[in-house]
Amino acid sequence: MGIRALLLDLDNTITPWRSRQVPAEIVEWVKRMQAAGIQLCFVSNTRNLGRLQWLSEQLNIPYARGPMKPRRAMLRRALETLDVEPQHAAIVGDQLFTDVWGGNRLGIYTIWVHPMHPREFIGTRVSRQVEKWLLKRLKRYQQDDA
Ligand SMILES: [Mg+2]
Repeated sequence: MGIRALLLDLDNTITPWRSRQVPAEIVEWVKRMQAAGIQLCFVSNTRNLGRLQWLSEQLNIPYARGPMKPRRAMLRRALETLDVEPQHAAIVGDQLFTDVWGGNRLGIYTIWVHPMHPREFIGTRVSRQVEKWLLKRLKRYQQDDA
């Protein structure tokens, strides 16, 4: 597909929410990506810059800052940091209304993953309900389409 770079959400994609614990299989996956020459950059809505910096150093992954996803500025900055065109990048995240929407607004490929852990921000729990509803409709739509 020509994807050379992945913009990575942090909370519930790479670590549990608000955690500094990166599961061993994620550490392995990061190393495999880096060895394969896939560029990585964090794009997180977290306000905890200290934690983001710490994880960035531990995993050797740069990060971009900016207005919260689904705003596009942080994602654009990540592409600039990695010096990659949108068509060669994908975003990986667990939330439809931040990661996937932001990625789609920028026209980059989106990978929607299951949240790592059920613990999360209270506002996220609300958008999960809407995600669930949309996913049901999407599945029905795909069935009709087949
Ligand atoms: Mg997340």
